[in-house]
Amino acid sequence: MRGVLFASDLHLSPQRPDRAQVFFEFLEVAGAHAEAVYLLGDLVEFWLGDDDPDPLHRALVDALNTLTARGVRLSVSVGNRDFLMGPAFCAGTGAALLPDYHVIDLFGRRTLLTHGDLLCVKDVQYQQFRRLVRDPTKQQRFLGQTLEQRRQIASQTRTGTQESMLAKDDFIMDADENEVASVMSAHQVTHLIHGHTHRPQIHHFTLAGQPAQRVVLGDWYAGNEVLWCTPAATSLLPAQDLVTTLTRPTASRK
Ligand code: MN
Repeated sequence: MRGVLFASDLHLSPQRPDRAQVFFEFLEVAGAHAEAVYLLGDLVEFWLGDDDPDPLHRALVDALNTLTARGVRLSVSVGNRDFLMGPAFCAGTGAALLPDYHVIDLFGRRTLLTHGDLLCVKDVQYQQFRRLVRDPTKQQRFLGQTLEQRRQIASQTRTGTQESMLAKDDFIMDADENEVASVMSAHQVTHLIHGHTHRPQIHHFTLAGQPAQRVVLGDWYAGNEVLWCTPAATSLLPAQDLVTTLTRPTASRK
């Protein structure tokens, strides 16, 4: 049965080529069974612009392009590590970039997608930093510098907490429950999928008298929990377990 795949927080880095390889191989198998793939942010550790010739970033673009070339719809949310992904990334991969909040029809259920950093409202310092780096004028000025200059800025710029500009820990604050409820109500959904916090889980709760779910995807530093949805079922499971399920002889008979 064809499904819809959600993953996030791959944090691919030249320092961890083995994880990138695992992801590329996973994408090949999942891509053969998915009608749509949603990557909800932080695909790489640092994205300093679409023009970065880093071989790992090129390999990622190629892998995503292979996926869309076989007819799989690919949508990408940017995260706090890769918010500078732009038109050239889309042209190279065939991906559509999603806005901060995006509602889809997931087999008949309105479902809200977001990276997740906006939900961590208690991290006031991060939210201020986010507004700063998401300013289009500042981004254009940054992208106008040479890659070497951009690398220096990224590694040297410090926030007040001694963390580098792009490497602020994703998980110092969890999603705020009141913000979650407020955002879900505003978008008229009872189903939310996000990443960022690296705390994979399906949360069940009540929202305005209705049963609601919030699915948190995992990161790919150690684990790699992804969400696989078909009309019949929803599973949050490690990527390799999904591969096992999808490639079982019984699964391929449909
Ligand atoms: Mn993040």
